[in-house]
Amino acid sequence: MPELTKQMKDEIKRRRTFAIISHPDAGKTTLTEKFLLYGGAINQAGSVKGKATAKHAVSDWMEIEKERGISVTSSVLQFEYDGYCINILDTPGHQDFSEDTYRTLMAADSAVMVIDASKGVEAQTRKLFKVCTMRHIPIFTFINKMDREAMDTFELLDDIENELGIATCPINWPIGSGKNFKGVYDRKEREVELFSDTKKGTTQGEVKKVKIDDPEITWLIDENQRLQLEEEIELQDGAGAEFDQELVSRGELSPVFFGSALTNFGVETFLQHFLSMTSSPLPRKSDKGEINPMEEQDFSAFVFKIQANMNKAHRDRIAFMRICSGKFDAGMEVHHIQGGKKVRLSQPQQMMASERKIIENAYAGDIIGVFDPGIFSIGDTLTASPEKFAFEGIPTFAPEHFARVRQVDTMKRKQFIKGISQIAQEGAIQIFQEYNTGMEEIIVGVVGVLQFDVLKYRLENEYKVEIRLETLPYEHIRWIENEELDLDRLVGTSDMKKIKDLKDRPLLLFINEWSIRMTLDRNEGLILSEFGRS
Ligand code: GDP
Repeated sequence: MPELTKQMKDEIKRRRTFAIISHPDAGKTTLTEKFLLYGGAINQAGSVKGKATAKHAVSDWMEIEKERGISVTSSVLQFEYDGYCINILDTPGHQDFSEDTYRTLMAADSAVMVIDASKGVEAQTRKLFKVCTMRHIPIFTFINKMDREAMDTFELLDDIENELGIATCPINWPIGSGKNFKGVYDRKEREVELFSDTKKGTTQGEVKKVKIDDPEITWLIDENQRLQLEEEIELQDGAGAEFDQELVSRGELSPVFFGSALTNFGVETFLQHFLSMTSSPLPRKSDKGEINPMEEQDFSAFVFKIQANMNKAHRDRIAFMRICSGKFDAGMEVHHIQGGKKVRLSQPQQMMASERKIIENAYAGDIIGVFDPGIFSIGDTLTASPEKFAFEGIPTFAPEHFARVRQVDTMKRKQFIKGISQIAQEGAIQIFQEYNTGMEEIIVGVVGVLQFDVLKYRLENEYKVEIRLETLPYEHIRWIENEELDLDRLVGTSDMKKIKDLKDRPLLLFINEWSIRMTLDRNEGLILSEFGRS
C-alpha cells in the first residue's frame, strides 16, 4: 500500500476534534466563544450566539427554535490555534436536546465537560457522559464560574467521581471562589496564575503568574488562603490519582481544570493543556478491521447527522460526515457503501466560526457537510478506497418520550407514511409499531420533547399532513438482545408494552426502572440493551 505523504500526515496529526458537553447554563457557549477568541476566528467574543441565531433564519422549521430561543441543531466550528487545526462539535444545550446530541459524540475524538462550580454534575452532563464512556474517549473537565461562590473543591471532585464513575486528576487547584477567588495553582509548575476580572469581554489580557515560593505571593494572597491551599494540596497529593496519560487516553482518568469562562480566566491554560493531552484523529472500526488515519491513504468518512430542509422549495438536506482517513477534494467521486453506488460529493461546506463556507479540501478529523439529494442515512460509509468497507454503525439511542401518532385526514395516508419515514430517516425521531398490528398505529419515540413539535410542524408544512399526538406514559425503551426469544412467552409487568421497529425487531417500553428490573427477574437469560443496532 502506498505511504501517506508527509504533507498529509502533518495535516492529520495537527487536527483535534472534540465535543463540549454540559448541562444548560454551565457556560459551554461562553467557553466556546473564548476558544474562538484565542484562535482569532472571531475578534469579538459574543458573536457565536448572535450570528448563529441570524443564520437560523434560512431554515423554516427552525422557527420553533427562534420562538423558544434555543438551538436544536448542533454545529461544527473549525479554527486554528498554535499550529493545531481544531474542530469543535457543538452539542445542543437545552434540555430539549435530541438524538443528534448523542450522535455528535460519535464523531468526536474527545470531550470537554463543562461543570458549573456551584452545582456540580447535573442531569444532562450525566446522560452525555454515558455515551462518551461507551466509546472510551478521553474526557477533560473544566470547572467553570469560579468567580461565583463555588462548592468545596474536594466535594466537586467527589461528585464527579461518584456520579460519573471516572477518576479525576486536578491539573490546577482553585484558590478561593466568588469574591475571594484569587486564581489557580498549577500543581506541576508550582505557580499561581492570578485572577483578575479585567479580561471580560473581548481582549485576551495579560496573564500574571507567580511561583508559590516567590515572596511576592505573600502580599498577593493573604495568609489564611495560602495556608488553606497548602493544606488542600498536601491532602490531594497524598490521596488523589496521579496524572497518567495512558489512563487519560483510555477515558479512565479526567484531567480537571478550574476557571471562569466569562472573565476569560483559566481558559487559555486549559486549551493549551487540553491540546497537548488529547490525541490527533483516532482509528475507527470497520468491517475490514481498524481504519487508521495515519496509515490508510484513501478518503473515507461516515455520516453522523442529517440536517433537513435548509430550503423548503427543494426539500434538500445536508449530510454531515466525519472524515476518518485521507483527504477530501471538492467534487470527488466516492463509493456510497450502503447505497451500492458511486456518488459525487457536491457543495462541500464547513462551518468557520458561525459562517458556512464552501471548501476545497479537508482531512481526516475534519467534519464536512455535503449536499444530500435524499440518499444518505445516519451511519452510512463513503470511501474512495477500491477495497470497499463499512464503518461500524452508529447505535440508536434510547428515546425517553413516546407518543401515538394519528393523522387527522385518513385520506392522506401515503403522504403521512412518506413524511414520517423521511423524518425518521434523518434521525430526528424513531418510529415503532404496535407489536401485533401493522403500520395503522405508529408510535414515535424522541430523545427531547421538542422533537414532537418539530415533527408536527414539519409534517404540516412540508407534507401537508395534519397529525394528532397522544403522549404515552413510557420513559424507558429496551432493545432485546436475545435474537431467538419468543416474545409471546415473555413475562413482563402489567404496565410493560411490547412494540417492534420497522425491521420487525421486538422492543419493550417501560414506565419506570422498577418494571425493567422485575421483567429481568421474571425472565431468566433475558438481555436488554439501552442502545439499539441501526
Ligand atoms: P450554556 O447554556 O452552557 O451554553 O451556557 P452559557 O455560556 O450561555 O452561559 C450561561 C450563563 O452563565 C450566561 O449568562 C453566562 O454569561 C454565564 N456564565 C458563563 N460563564 C460564566 C463564568 O465563568 N462566570 C459567571 N459568573 N457567569 C458565567
